[in-house]
Amino acid sequence: MCETKNENSSNLLRGISENGGILFYGIDSTAIVRRMEQLHKTSAVTTAALGRLLTGVAMMGQMLKSDSDSVTVQIKGGGPAGRILAVSNGAGDVKGYVENSIVELPPRADGHLNVGAAVGKDGTLDVIRDLGMREPYIGQVPLVSGEIAEDITNYFAISEQTPTVCALGVLVNPDLTVQCAGGFIVQLMPGATEDEITRLEKNIGAMPGVTTLLQQGKSIPDILNMALDGFNPELLDSTRIDYCCDCSLDRVERTIRSLGKKEVEKLRDEDPIAEVNCQFCGKKYKVDLNDLLKNWPDTVEKQ
Ligand code: ZN
Repeated sequence: MCETKNENSSNLLRGISENGGILFYGIDSTAIVRRMEQLHKTSAVTTAALGRLLTGVAMMGQMLKSDSDSVTVQIKGGGPAGRILAVSNGAGDVKGYVENSIVELPPRADGHLNVGAAVGKDGTLDVIRDLGMREPYIGQVPLVSGEIAEDITNYFAISEQTPTVCALGVLVNPDLTVQCAGGFIVQLMPGATEDEITRLEKNIGAMPGVTTLLQQGKSIPDILNMALDGFNPELLDSTRIDYCCDCSLDRVERTIRSLGKKEVEKLRDEDPIAEVNCQFCGKKYKVDLNDLLKNWPDTVEKQ
């Protein structure tokens, strides 16, 4: 599905507690967030916002049953970054997009990038799961803070009734390159006891932020062992995650056709060559609208 399997990949690990009651997903997403920053030329705070979302959605992609299933998370918070969106499939291909890639905001009082202000919290988080059925499964929750990790945690609690802890972090260098990025999601399966929940909260409450841990040289298995200390966790598997876009001329043409013949004729009259930039990878496509209209199939026409 993704042609560009290269150095821009990250490993996503899944682990489980000995009794099977707690699931752990963790990823050092530095490589994919770096790739995103190179493609989108984001400012520091938008790198952090989209980087966090990509990291979270990469893990949500590994909750899907099949490689061809996909999950899209879209956040519209009313902040200056505009809409941000990330997609992952079950095979580990992720991609993302932020409406306004350059947002400059002063840091928060604690020195962290002010992701919540860039994203805004006056809006919703939508999760769209395409499981190959006729209709996708859609869940929507109001935003809590726009800080992304809290909003994903809230989504799992409200929309899926799954107690979840989500931690996400992106550290941006002064020259705007990505120093490190990562995250983890811990989920309680039904039947977890109060004692287990208390222990887990205590473990995770005592942990520094993900990027601090990565900077200290901690690996994702180290982070798993810290979060699930006392639960005898074991690693289940590891999946390669790549930032990768599956756009194609064919797909671009299909998108243009979906506007309907009349609209395409109108566009053709303005300019016979439509230039389309892929919003996920920046690739440029040129479509000759006269050719497209000449070969217009009757079946997809929408007026
Ligand atoms: Zn693309």
